[in-house]
Amino acid sequence: PPKENPQVVIDAHGLPYQDPGLPVKKRVADLLSRMSPAEKAGQMTQAERNALTSQGDIAGYDLGSLLSGGGSVPTPNTPEAWAKMVDSYQLRARATRFQIPLIYGVDAVHGHNNVIGSTIMPHNVGLGATRDPKTVERTGAVTANEVRATGIPWDFAPCLCVSRDERWGRSYESYGEDPALVESLETVIQGMQGAASGKDLDRSDKVLATAKHFVGDGGTEYGSSTTGSYPIDQGVTKVTRQELEAVHLAPFGEAVKRGIGTVMPSYSSLDILGDDKGPVKMHADAEMINGVLKDRMGFEGFVISDWQAIDQIPGDYASDVRTSVNAGLDMIMVPTAYKEFTKTLRDEVTAGRIPQSRIDDAVSRILTQKFRLGLFEKPYADTGNLGRVGSAEHRAVAREAAAKSQVLLKNDGGVLPLKSSQKVYVAGSNADDIGNQAGGWTVSWQGSSGDITPGTTILSAMKKDAASVTYSKDASAATDGYDVGVVVVGETPYAEGVGDVGNGHDLELSAADKAAVDKVCAAMKCAVLIVSGRPQLIGDRLDGIDALVASWLPGTEGDGVADVLYGKRAFTGQLPVSWPKSQSQLPINVGDTAYDPQFPYGWGLTTLSKPPAGGELTLTALALAARVAERTGLGRTDVGRAIVGQARLLVQQKAGGKPGEAVSKPFADADHLLLTGDPTGAVAKLRAAYRAA
Ligand code: BGC
Repeated sequence: PPKENPQVVIDAHGLPYQDPGLPVKKRVADLLSRMSPAEKAGQMTQAERNALTSQGDIAGYDLGSLLSGGGSVPTPNTPEAWAKMVDSYQLRARATRFQIPLIYGVDAVHGHNNVIGSTIMPHNVGLGATRDPKTVERTGAVTANEVRATGIPWDFAPCLCVSRDERWGRSYESYGEDPALVESLETVIQGMQGAASGKDLDRSDKVLATAKHFVGDGGTEYGSSTTGSYPIDQGVTKVTRQELEAVHLAPFGEAVKRGIGTVMPSYSSLDILGDDKGPVKMHADAEMINGVLKDRMGFEGFVISDWQAIDQIPGDYASDVRTSVNAGLDMIMVPTAYKEFTKTLRDEVTAGRIPQSRIDDAVSRILTQKFRLGLFEKPYADTGNLGRVGSAEHRAVAREAAAKSQVLLKNDGGVLPLKSSQKVYVAGSNADDIGNQAGGWTVSWQGSSGDITPGTTILSAMKKDAASVTYSKDASAATDGYDVGVVVVGETPYAEGVGDVGNGHDLELSAADKAAVDKVCAAMKCAVLIVSGRPQLIGDRLDGIDALVASWLPGTEGDGVADVLYGKRAFTGQLPVSWPKSQSQLPINVGDTAYDPQFPYGWGLTTLSKPPAGGELTLTALALAARVAERTGLGRTDVGRAIVGQARLLVQQKAGGKPGEAVSKPFADADHLLLTGDPTGAVAKLRAAYRAA
């Protein structure tokens, strides 16, 4: 570790808050009682590291936190350089009279994704398809492990958004369209933080997590902000109070129960139908932040603003600061205006427009997490852990997650799994591109195509399994003499905003990808893999395709995709979102009155020789039925219908059928299928209720 200023060390030595033997509450109270207004204002300030006029400003403004925004990386971009960089900032903070450590934050939303050589997990939409809380917990644990190894104790993840419209440029950051699915995967919080009590946070493989974006980020109305001054992903969420509770708030309630350390409000506004408040910017919404999150849900961590988001609150800067802090924000990601912010905050307190008690509460919340993280005792990176970044062990976890995220949408004639002996023809824009496989938030904010970080592309992984592979990206090589074609198509990376602008802000495949699919599928039996952050329109082209796979954004481990292609693992993924037939169907979500997707929510064929004995396939029906019954207050008949609907789906999947195809005796088969995986008898009870009704 770097050498700290001996005079400061001696001066602060022996003060009660420095004693790790004291309870955190006592340490916080002791330190708070010693702090000046400037020191308190500094704790509530988070600056972007590149925005610092000089490193001396860390101590000069008593800054409590720094972040690396997406792509704000050291040169060279190696784990070693990250640790060194963060340590150098920390050393500055530790030179202040109370040696209060910085809390450094990054967006590690699918692995430690800013760092070249890290393990890149599938994006959340793919993790949603796994339906596997244990796997998702492990991905969180690996991410935390790699982040903390580089000396960073805080991650702005997970996104608990419930994505209700694929046109939202962040829909791939969502686990899916169903809040029950999102809640079931919040095991990721334990993976990242450890026990809900916070007792594991000082471990060298855990980080503080952030539930974002509170609340309604995934529900913004398409188009609502195109005429306004903010990007489309920062629009207005118009919902009834009931829908707000059931769809968007529920995952945050679960996160609070799981001990989430920080919460980030959403850029979007909330317009509760039936209230006369009108759209309120979430960063100004005292009813939601103070009222619902802190008072009702009992959230004890701290609230961190989104990037420069308070500037969007109507009024001058003083009003932005006052309104947001009084609404319950504890730390502001300014990210450049740290000088103006700290001064304005102090002025507002002096003028009595922000109560001193609000400041003390905010600072106490921040200090509590710093103590829990063990930052006072161990502020610097343990360079002995740097080898964990991108380790074989971590990549194995990502590989398994990638395999489990693959959703088999169609498989006529059992084209998949492939056989090693087959001569394979591979084509398409995303067959051999790590950058496209990883998507946005990889190395840079927006991500980019190409060889941006070490990993295995789908093509290179397939080459390990197949006796013979020919590759032509645009399918311009001769196509005769092959047993099977694999065409990997999809999106190029993007983050926030409107999404895949290059493809025209819609869900269409590019002309080149369509041509490759048409050419290969006309020439041979073919499997089409779609590597994308959201469904892509297939339409009638489906008829000419033998097998179709939603691969999502699998990350650096293309090996996981090859594992299911070659039958080393079975396909078990299920759609986390509804797959539309056309752009005009958007938004489309399970439960809509005129629900007619190309593939329904939950769809996914399996190549398992027999369905699993318990759990997995039943989860959808259980989750849906429970949601319908408990949250919307619908009658038993409707609940029964929901079960039957899901049962049909499961039977069709089991039979390898097509969605919408008639299934004989669906209810009788469903009975059997549902009951095998229902240890609590919940489905049996609901079925009885249905019959009685
Ligand atoms: C995003 C957040 C992110 C923050 C910091 C913002 O633009 O909305 O999700 O945590 O930047 O990088």
